[in-house]
Amino acid sequence: MVKTFRRTGAAVLASAAGSAMLLTGCSTESDSEPTSRGAATRSVTADPVGAASSPGIVVSRDADREITEGAADNFTGTVSIQPQYRGDDNAERISDVRFEPGARTAWHTHPAGQRLIVTEGTGWVQEWGKKRITVREGDVVWFAPGVKHWHGATVGSAMAHLAVTYAVDGATADWMEHVNDDQYLGRKQGGRA
Ligand code: MN
Repeated sequence: MVKTFRRTGAAVLASAAGSAMLLTGCSTESDSEPTSRGAATRSVTADPVGAASSPGIVVSRDADREITEGAADNFTGTVSIQPQYRGDDNAERISDVRFEPGARTAWHTHPAGQRLIVTEGTGWVQEWGKKRITVREGDVVWFAPGVKHWHGATVGSAMAHLAVTYAVDGATADWMEHVNDDQYLGRKQGGRA
């Protein structure tokens, strides 16, 4: 039985609509009056420090962040990547990476390490020379800087994770060879080809 993502296109749209409703219902005033009418005619009675010079809330819409396919040079199988957040000068990056069953990264390292937050499904992670580790929704994984590894879905389940990385000299990863099927399936101990 192959488990696929429960997040469908329709779910994405519903989620975006829900966020919009929450925002339009938001007010800086804490009274219990309905805010859908008349809010525009109210005068602002408080001006917290800094409020006038920078936005207090910044919303990046799901639909505005383009989803791309994982490049064949760096991934095996079907992988989608959506940027979630890019820090100043792209130094900090958070991406939503989704692996269909059987899909995985190539072997690679991160100059400043990487943290994964598994948000859906079941996957495998492996450090070169070590055994594969099974990870599931809710697990958080840290790869230390320079450690050669891969991550991806299992054969029978899709897996999605948020990936948090930091760029060094403009790069967040150094890519190496693909994870072959023997390595992926754990038939060769320790990731050696
Ligand atoms: Mn990685």
